[in-house]
Amino acid sequence: MDFSDRIQRVEPSATLAISSLASELEADGVDVIDLSVGEPDFPTPANVVDAAETAMEEGHTGYPPSKGVPELREAIAAKLRDDGLPYDAGNVIVTPGAKQALYETVQTVVDDGDEVVLLDPAWVSYEAMVKLAGGDLNRVDLAPHGFKLEPALDDLSAAVSDDTELLIVNSPSNPTGAVYSDAALEGVRDLAVEHDITVISDEIYERITYGAECTSLATLDGMFERTITVNGFSKAYSMTGWRLGYLAAPEELVSQAAKLHSHSVSSATNFVQRAGVEALQNTEDDVSEMVEAFHERRDRLVALLKQHGVDVGTPDGAFYLMIPVGEAQRASDASGDEPRADDQQWCEDALEEAHVATVPGSAFGAPGYARVSYAANLERIEEAVERLVESDLL
Ligand code: PMP
Repeated sequence: MDFSDRIQRVEPSATLAISSLASELEADGVDVIDLSVGEPDFPTPANVVDAAETAMEEGHTGYPPSKGVPELREAIAAKLRDDGLPYDAGNVIVTPGAKQALYETVQTVVDDGDEVVLLDPAWVSYEAMVKLAGGDLNRVDLAPHGFKLEPALDDLSAAVSDDTELLIVNSPSNPTGAVYSDAALEGVRDLAVEHDITVISDEIYERITYGAECTSLATLDGMFERTITVNGFSKAYSMTGWRLGYLAAPEELVSQAAKLHSHSVSSATNFVQRAGVEALQNTEDDVSEMVEAFHERRDRLVALLKQHGVDVGTPDGAFYLMIPVGEAQRASDASGDEPRADDQQWCEDALEEAHVATVPGSAFGAPGYARVSYAANLERIEEAVERLVESDLL
């Protein structure tokens, strides 16, 4: 068969090697502690499940309107207005997951040869989406700045130009957990306005922060008309498998992206969208409980790593942190021990020797780090650190 150039530009996810190794070990009866996952370990709130059941019983099982059921588009717009973003239902496309919203946006904005700027480390799928659209990647590395954006603004300024079409910003960040400061976002705004750049603000972890304020980029002067705000239900409401997300943007973008949406996925699932209204409106307590649990786990994990000489700072959001391994470990480790060869090797060793699954930083453009998710219960997190120490990996 003759495959398209487009599909051959994209590599299979580097995380797959680790997860298939983890499944093999588990199939052999090994107790693997999985800190590689990007999903909350809580059940979906019961009232949201009930709302989906009721919607099915009421017969909401046919095709919904392509851009989303009016009740949910309105509820999303109302939530965004509460956040200071003046969107109406007409600015919203409901998608099967935030991933589809990002995919549609990139396809709608990026032409062959257009420059797209990513802030590394960046979530794995941005690169693939840009390559599929034919865009050229230009990456700004935040790792030397402790994963903060503000000290990297000069680097960003040097990277962007009038030729830059799109910039993707993700705060709180997967994989670093960083929440970008207002000063950093204002710096982004100044550059975006100066060079007329379209910006995707991926805010999927916006509800999961620990004391830090998470500013939505489109609230800044000059940004509303150039920003696509992307969000979803997977993380905040523990609804990963439901596949529900959205984009909100100026109507001119919505009408273009809606063409791809209607010709590809048609819509998000009808009864899932109706449960989405319940998730947005009646889950305050559940979300607070989940965030409190993540907060406790983050503090415990950061403290345990510190006890073992690994200083990771204290990320303010999401449920990930990056631990230095290999080359990066050499820089932070005064012991002078030979570092492991690279992060891929470290993650394989962690899995095979300590039976702890993590994701190599190089998958996110941050070689020398491993991403650890703390969406696992406290005892398992504690045991994982113990195992890594016993295997001489920390
Ligand atoms: N953006 C980021 C930064 C993510 O981490 C994820 C999920 N891992 C997504 C988007 C997509 O989420 P979903 O499609 O489940 O809504």
